Amino acid sequence: MIQIENAFQATARDLAHRFAPRAAEWDQSRSYCWENVTEMANAGLMGMTIPTEYGGQGASFFDVALAVEEVAKACTLSARILVEANMGGISAVMAYGTPEQKAFCAPIVLAGDKPAICITEPDAGSAATEMTTTAQRSGDKYILNGCKHWITGGGVSKLHLVFARVLDENNNELGIGGFIVHRDPEQGIDPEGFDIVSRERTMGLCGMPEATLVFENVEVDADFAVIPPSGFKRGFADLMNAYNSQRVGAGTIAMGVAAGAIEHAKRYLKERHQFGRPIAEFQGLQWMLADMDTSVHASRLMLHEAAKSRGPNGSQFPDMTMAARAKLFASEAAIKVVNDALQMFGARGYGAAEPLERMYRDVRMFTIGGGTAQILRTQVAGSILEMRTPQTRYQPEEMTYGLQAAE
Ligand SMILES: Cc1cc2nc3c(=O)[nH]c(=O)nc-3n(C[C@H](O)[C@H](O)[C@H](O)COP(=O)(O)OP(=O)(O)OC[C@H]3O[C@@H](n4cnc5c(N)ncnc54)[C@H](O)[C@@H]3O)c2cc1C
Repeated sequence: MIQIENAFQATARDLAHRFAPRAAEWDQSRSYCWENVTEMANAGLMGMTIPTEYGGQGASFFDVALAVEEVAKACTLSARILVEANMGGISAVMAYGTPEQKAFCAPIVLAGDKPAICITEPDAGSAATEMTTTAQRSGDKYILNGCKHWITGGGVSKLHLVFARVLDENNNELGIGGFIVHRDPEQGIDPEGFDIVSRERTMGLCGMPEATLVFENVEVDADFAVIPPSGFKRGFADLMNAYNSQRVGAGTIAMGVAAGAIEHAKRYLKERHQFGRPIAEFQGLQWMLADMDTSVHASRLMLHEAAKSRGPNGSQFPDMTMAARAKLFASEAAIKVVNDALQMFGARGYGAAEPLERMYRDVRMFTIGGGTAQILRTQVAGSILEMRTPQTRYQPEEMTYGLQAAE
């Protein structure tokens, strides 16, 4: 068990003790853990990175990482909510938004909302800049048209940061921008033309809706366009910088699940007897355990390094290469660690009496969502070689908005 470093981590560890017995319930019923969200909001963990002038605590990404690891050991679903309520979309708004946008979004997140970040489309996954959703300027509004899929929290999130190709009134393309779309049907806020049309049936993380969102002539107030200082032309690259924090968060969830699996394995190795001895006495399992611990330790060091890093040009977000390397390593290591822990339980690990089978299904996602392992390797290699590694055929450089493979 790692040492407690600060109050955020201590709070998260306390909550995790309460979340652990409920984790299977959200998984089996495929329902969102509203009870845990309320507890995390009451404990000040939702929106903890929001600056104090907007009601948050100005916590660092490292603080979030410490809290996320604790929660992920017990409940992967809650850990994902914690990441998205502090990194990614909300951190982009806090970095690049206007004071009015920040003042609008902050209380919604502090009250328990997990904003949705809407980038991926049916024909634009890893090649995110090939998105076709448009935001066309019309007077003091933008008109959104398009479809996003695999959107985490679709149907439960109130805030959405929707990425779209920005067109001026004469249909000239300006770049890719982010647009804040607010939806809260219970409060009568249900933008016309914005529909949640379907939900995926997923292998793991079953309580989290992964939804397809359709925008048909949805009007967004022009004041809700998030425009980084570089403008729309390179704005997508800036907005995606915020995604480096989410990648550190995603890697930390994977590492936390793996650390939790080790705690379960440690218990069972001493508890289970075969051949008249605790199975902990078999060297074959001891060496597996040592390798698992080494992987988690290395992941944690890389993730913490990335969480504390800063990108170029005064960016407040983690360095892209450090974030990519840490998520790549942690996500792949975690799948192996959880798989090995499950193995140590024999048949019991394969059944639902232990949490290992759920943890294994949950952790499998992290080499896919938020940048696949292959795309992250491409980014790391480009950084080592100090060269662009274009993946797109025949696409002029100016059409990539500073990125060639964003997700
Ligand atoms: C649970 C979950 C939650 C998600 N949440 C969100 C969300 O909230 N918001 C959002 O916008 N998106 C979300 N996504 C989408 C996610 O970001 C994409 O799945 C991811 O970017 C990959 O896109 P794709 O699935 O279309 O795969 P594709 O891009 O079609 O890739 C298919 C395969 O080809 C490989 N590949 C593609 N290009 C290359 C290349 N150049 N070199 C080598 N290999 C390559 C990929 O690694 C992969 O193995 C989520 C996905 C999942 C699974």
